[in-house]
Amino acid sequence: MRRPAIGCQLGIIAPMISKYHIEMTRAALAPHFSERALEVIVAANIKQDAIINQFGHDEIHYDNNAIDKGDRYIIEQRGYVIATLLTPGILSAWIAFGRLLHTAQDFYAHTNYVTMWLEQFGETPPPSTEIEPLIKELVKSPKLCSGKVYLPMDVLAIIPFLRPLALRFLPKDSHGWMNLDVPERGPKFPYAIAAATKRTEYELDLLRKILTPEMFARFTDK
Ligand SMILES: [Zn+2]
Repeated sequence: MRRPAIGCQLGIIAPMISKYHIEMTRAALAPHFSERALEVIVAANIKQDAIINQFGHDEIHYDNNAIDKGDRYIIEQRGYVIATLLTPGILSAWIAFGRLLHTAQDFYAHTNYVTMWLEQFGETPPPSTEIEPLIKELVKSPKLCSGKVYLPMDVLAIIPFLRPLALRFLPKDSHGWMNLDVPERGPKFPYAIAAATKRTEYELDLLRKILTPEMFARFTDK
């Protein structure tokens, strides 16, 4: 697998850089999947940040307030996992799961979920390891929103030396101001990583409950 090359190539534009998608996916799934399954899942996950999937695909990244569309995308990809496992095929199930996980992980980097979770605690929030990824009141809150992409400034905001200038032109509801894609975004970043990693585990647990033991064993390839 040409992981470093893909990572470098996508790091230029990728909202949450591939490094973190790879780390979170491996941290959550490595104990449960064969290495060959994991490689396919991880590759499908980071491929979602290819340039072709950056524009006109808000649902893939929960961008531009596409909360319902993002939720629906996850449900659809879960459907493809199950549908594939009802056939002799397996590859499409791993690919669909990788796509699903990308969107599920982006939710915490691109919406205000982490901010709303922290607001419950005032000045002294619990450590990032305590964050719960699917608190119903927050997921269903009318205040839940994600960063709007303002072109071209939001593209310039990704380039470190242009970021300060771009932010002066971007409103506070922009992707540039709201995203928690990289550690430089500050103290909320570890919460986004912790929530996304737990969400990844949750998505696997959900499939464990839905699938028959035989289907689940074929899925994890262990
Ligand atoms: Zn993304």
